[in-house]
Formats: sequence, structure tokens, C-alpha cells
Amino acid sequence: MSARVLPVMPLRSTQYSLESCAGCHGSGISCAACEGNGYVLVLIPALKCGHCLGSGMERNRPASSSPVCVSCAGTGWENVIRAAR
Ligand SMILES: [Zn+2]
Ligand SMILES: [Zn+2]
Repeated sequence: MSARVLPVMPLRSTQYSLESCAGCHGSGISCAACEGNGYVLVLIPALKCGHCLGSGMERNRPASSSPVCVSCAGTGWENVIRAAR
């Protein structure tokens, strides 16, 4: 009787989705939100940020504050794991 060893899968890629960064529209140019990659890893199901409605920009902001959405850090998505690499 032989025991079959199952492969250990600590991080399944199917749990994440590669989504276009809202802050730079996927270009990655001069973008801190996605660290210049243009894409971010989002936990599935990928949901657009409810605070900025996926735009990545702060709405009704005071002129002195940052234009980046504080909820999604400018990525436009909820539950962002990190910038894609
Ligand atoms: Zn970006
Ligand atoms: Zn947002």
C-alpha cells in the first residue's frame, strides 16, 4: 500500500485576478499605485473600488489634498494584493 503525496499549494494563482490599474489606465507610466507595472493583483471576485467607483481618483476632494483615492490607493480596485510583477 503506497501513500500518494499531494503537492503543496500554498498560493493558488486562481485566487487572484490581474486587473488593469485605474490610476494609469494600464500604462504604468509614473504610477505609484501599481509601481509602474500597469497592472495589479486583485482578490477574486475582482470588485471596483466603491469609494471612487473604479476611477482611482478621489471624488469631491479639497484642492489641497492628494487626488489619489484613499480607499484603493489609486488602483481602482477593492482587495488589491499588490502590484503585478
Ligand atoms: Zn498604475
Ligand atoms: Zn478607490
